[in-house]
Amino acid sequence: MPEPQVAIITGAASGIGRALAAHYATRNVRSVIGTFPDDPHDPEQTLRLVQDAGGSAVVHEVDVRSTSSVDAFAQRAVDEFGRLDIAVANAGILRNSRLQDLTDERWAAMLDVDLTGVLRTLRAGAARMADGGAMVAVSSIAGGVYGWEGHAHYAAAKAGVLGLIRSVAAELGPVGIRANVVIPGLIETPQSLDSVNSLGPEGLERAGLDIPWGRVGQPEEVASVIAFLTSDDARYVTGQSLIVDGGLTIKMRA
Ligand code: NAD
Repeated sequence: MPEPQVAIITGAASGIGRALAAHYATRNVRSVIGTFPDDPHDPEQTLRLVQDAGGSAVVHEVDVRSTSSVDAFAQRAVDEFGRLDIAVANAGILRNSRLQDLTDERWAAMLDVDLTGVLRTLRAGAARMADGGAMVAVSSIAGGVYGWEGHAHYAAAKAGVLGLIRSVAAELGPVGIRANVVIPGLIETPQSLDSVNSLGPEGLERAGLDIPWGRVGQPEEVASVIAFLTSDDARYVTGQSLIVDGGLTIKMRA
């Protein structure tokens, strides 16, 4: 059995991050489960999934709006498990705002989490990867592929993630650190089930009918792709983005 790897995952008390920690537990990867106390999600559920799969993880509170909080989060991996190999910048927020209501404050609050939060996570992670490693940031088809009315700030942040990752990948390749992006389509998680800022349950169901695969995605279906990109199977893949959307973006609507 090879030595276990160690990952940090932000926003892992719910959705894609939770599914990823559970997936890593089956792949000999130990996780530091990032949980954001301002949200109602229960990180113990993530921990239980990891333990049920025979894995090992710890829960750590992290706010990606704070550099010191993210640094302490990444350091927890080293303190707890002795190393850090993988950093996944998954935490994100989604807010609805038409352009005329998109104040400087709303814009800045969104970018602080969805773009600068990714920078903080990659920076803290890379600084602690003694033997090289792999990083993934979670973008979105909103910004990563499409525009989305009422969500200019979200789309701008998610598009920014692509430029950030490409540059980081170019810079860190020589020290053995890869960096890639996953671009989810419509995935059933607390974020997309929020009817105020996103599609909500009925909107998701309707949208699913128009997706070539016939339904929206499940968090596990994104998690397994992130796990692939951070695994040795993807050792020659860096600076890339991979769309995980059941074919949503390749279907022409005439
Ligand atoms: P989610 O709401 O379950 O997960 C987001 C997590 O981020 C939550 O656990 C939340 O607590 C955490 N978070 C929010 N603010 C934070 C902060 N300041 N510091 C630390 N953590 C914070 O939804 P999800 O869909 O699993 O989202 C994961 C990622 O996937 C996000 O970046 C999201 O934008 C992206 N995404 C989701 C979809 C989708 O359809 N669900 C589509 C495209 C992209």
